[in-house]
Amino acid sequence: MNEAQQVLRKVFGYESFRAPQQEIIEAVLSNRDCFVLMPTGAGKSICYQIPALIRPGIAIIVSPLISLMKDQVDALRLNGVAAECYNSSLSQTEARRVLKGLDEGNVDLLYVAPERLMMTEFQDRLRHLPIALFAIDEAHCVSQWGHDFRPEYVQLGRLRPLFKEVPFIALTATADKQTREDVLLRLNLQDPAVFVSGFDRPNIRYTVVEKAQPLSQLEVFLRERPDEPGIVYCLSRKRVDAVADHLRRRGISAQAYHAGYGADERTRVQDAFQRDDVQVVVATVAFGMGIDKPNVRFVVHYDLPKNMEGYYQETGRAGRDGLPAEALLLFGAGDIMTARRLIEASDNPTQKAIELKKLTAMVEYAEAQTCRRRIILRYFGEHTTKPCMNCDICLVAPDSYDATDDVKKALMAVYELKQRFGLGYVVDMLRGSKSARIMESYHDSLSSYGSGKHLSGDEWASIIRQLIQRGLLIQDAENYGILKLTPETKPVLRDGVQVFLAKPRVKVETPKTKKGKKSKAKGDLSDRDDALFQELRALRRQIADREKVPAYVVFSDETLRQMAILKPRTRAELLKVSGVGEKKADRYGSEFLLGIQQS
Ligand code: ADP
Ligand code: ZN
Repeated sequence: MNEAQQVLRKVFGYESFRAPQQEIIEAVLSNRDCFVLMPTGAGKSICYQIPALIRPGIAIIVSPLISLMKDQVDALRLNGVAAECYNSSLSQTEARRVLKGLDEGNVDLLYVAPERLMMTEFQDRLRHLPIALFAIDEAHCVSQWGHDFRPEYVQLGRLRPLFKEVPFIALTATADKQTREDVLLRLNLQDPAVFVSGFDRPNIRYTVVEKAQPLSQLEVFLRERPDEPGIVYCLSRKRVDAVADHLRRRGISAQAYHAGYGADERTRVQDAFQRDDVQVVVATVAFGMGIDKPNVRFVVHYDLPKNMEGYYQETGRAGRDGLPAEALLLFGAGDIMTARRLIEASDNPTQKAIELKKLTAMVEYAEAQTCRRRIILRYFGEHTTKPCMNCDICLVAPDSYDATDDVKKALMAVYELKQRFGLGYVVDMLRGSKSARIMESYHDSLSSYGSGKHLSGDEWASIIRQLIQRGLLIQDAENYGILKLTPETKPVLRDGVQVFLAKPRVKVETPKTKKGKKSKAKGDLSDRDDALFQELRALRRQIADREKVPAYVVFSDETLRQMAILKPRTRAELLKVSGVGEKKADRYGSEFLLGIQQS
């Protein structure tokens, strides 16, 4: 066994490396610069943490967010690694302690914010110390092409020539080709070894559901997943507050998060989420990079995201621990209008064109009748031919039906209403509603009135949305969203052209796999093992509270799952569980062994 493998086992408690990790580590150990593009959750950190422990000197890790640094450092310390962070959140005393530790050679990994690192004084200090490597995490922040550009990151390019003998490793989960090239250039990497892993996140199940009554759709979804942590993204602050309020009133543990709240409140919500004290965070996309919680089990998009990049990054926050996770998108035609209106309001025509194109790709994804994963991967330049068998389309093939009669009824209703009413009204008309508005306008005398009683309101709404998507109707955004006929309408109404539509998918029951297995952290645990798993989770929780760290820092869900299955009885057996290293076995071993024994 080589040294890297030994460290992997002893310190991190993992049996073997995942695909590119070993190669990357070897490259860094042989003094080579590296660029690493790996999807979230694939295990980037180990790629610099292990060389940091093997190479003499201090490894400097640049990371954009202070909150992330703290969790990483806590996690490393529990594994017995001498890790520190150096940033503006430290008190003077703490900062002095860290600097002293550096000078005395007591620090193996130092996490530092870019602005600290670029201070001349700090660099002078570093130049007199042995440095093992520089790791630039979230390296896409250096590029303006990326979507998280941070000006202070650009300065990092000046470091490379100052530390000639030290390898630099840049890591990111999000970079298209252009961004990638930009990162290499700006960071001044020297003849870097480039590692690009596939984008796929096979453990995430993608599901798109037509938005019908989103609040109750969301509630049904959450009720099926009690205790599972997740994020619900909404487009506006107002909506975030409304949705979070609603959920709380319905007894669901939910908190709101957006830029309108003060920094303290935001930190409070984020910490509560990290610690599993709150189940659901309802947020705008402001709830972003700071989230490094591996056991997020689902991400719901309550509104249509603006582009695939954002969507994929946000859904990517689910299932970082590799266990089954879900991404649910509630897709309503009305959202397209809202998004388009926001884009149209911009006065930069180039930007506008780009954004509209991105929005179109997003809509195409949501409307797709073919494997969702294939569409996502194709968007990011990866081609696959096999259906993924883990998205709504692959699991339950969409049914289409000859909807010509229904379509005619809907178009006729719009025509009879003189193209002056919106979707809700047209649906009411078709269903023969006795609402005051309809009665007062004598619309109950029209021939379409009540012609669609055989379908529910949701089903009609779905049909109309599909007609909008197909260009058989338009929804006039400037004009209260009223429905209008288009030149495409005539062949259907007059010339008997047939129309096939997809059967509406408005149920949020996300498809089960063939075996009827539910996608939960529980996975394939037997009832008995699951009971033990829950007990171990409770124990982990106690320990985490005692040590004031997030629960997953103690042990991951996957580690607890394995403990529940393997039921180790001795320290040696415990060490065989993936994720139990020597330090953690010393520290928590007896508590967990006792818990297992007593079960
Ligand atoms: P990334 O930074 O790429 O999003 P992390 O470095 O946080 O991912 O790793 C994700 C999870 O996978 C962590 O819980 C980590 O401990 C675990 N992990 C990493 N490498 C391995 C491995 N070789 N075997 C088992 N688990 C691993
Ligand atoms: Zn699929």
